[in-house]
Amino acid sequence: MQQILDDIAAQMALETDRGKVADYIPQLAHVDPNQFGIAVATPDGKMYTAGNASTLFSIQSISKIFTLTIALGKLGDGLWTHVGREPSGDPFNSIVMLEHETGRPRNPFINAGAIAVVDAIMMGHEPKETLGEILQFVHFITDDESIRFDHKVAASEMAHKDRNASLAYFMKSFGRLKHDVDKVLGVYFHQCSIEMNCQQLASAGLYLVSNGVDKHSGVRVINEHRARRINSLMMMCGHYDGSGEFAYRVGLPGKSGVGGGILTIAPGKGSIAVWSLGLDHIGNSKLGLKALELFVQETGWSVFAE
Ligand code: GLU
Repeated sequence: MQQILDDIAAQMALETDRGKVADYIPQLAHVDPNQFGIAVATPDGKMYTAGNASTLFSIQSISKIFTLTIALGKLGDGLWTHVGREPSGDPFNSIVMLEHETGRPRNPFINAGAIAVVDAIMMGHEPKETLGEILQFVHFITDDESIRFDHKVAASEMAHKDRNASLAYFMKSFGRLKHDVDKVLGVYFHQCSIEMNCQQLASAGLYLVSNGVDKHSGVRVINEHRARRINSLMMMCGHYDGSGEFAYRVGLPGKSGVGGGILTIAPGKGSIAVWSLGLDHIGNSKLGLKALELFVQETGWSVFAE
């Protein structure tokens, strides 16, 4: 495993076309785009890393896995009245389908869906309490209390909130959001601003590798059926309108973020986190996808084969 990761990191270092940094969040554009990290956590407690695997980055939409998990824990199947579970085939910030579907977003991983999930988990709580709950959950699944929000990134998103605010007001006009739009967006931008490195992220994914059980503590995070369903949603919707391409090239459930990270789950085998800042035209990490494609070729890890 270590050899595979070292080879991938060496190959990624040679890549010249590293994609485009998401400059619509100006704070993200301050990061050096020449970095690449990969980490693999396995259920027996091992961690393998290569490249910049201990550099912190903005996990952005990868956080939507964690809020979905919290929401399913709180609302159970009631969550599906707030948000659907079909792939959208649209960009991450698209408003198009919302009108056809009366303000109910297609799935929890497009921005509108994640905003609806935040509204659902707030359930009358103050934004600070909800943020505390999200961070506590991340600390629990990583066994690492050093993980924090990056308030500068959250503020940068709030300052450039127009598209996400439009999605939120549009949903609110259909009576879909219960809370004040700015409060919901404040929570959403902070959850996206969580900073983690590849090692922490790989470790966070282990409960989805092991049927919902947190391997650090042996405690069940979510029941087996829900863990399986979150993995299905990641497979179908985890890369926006690039989800089909990701399933074709990687063949594992995954979730990307515009900070250049991707968390990928190989059920029963391991959790793989990759990070490289530059994105492809859809908004998924360009080298991250390439590295994962090499990784599955070398390991044979796939949900479609033994
Ligand atoms: N915070 C980002 C946004 O709302 C998340 C997008 C992403 O990571 O795909 O635009």
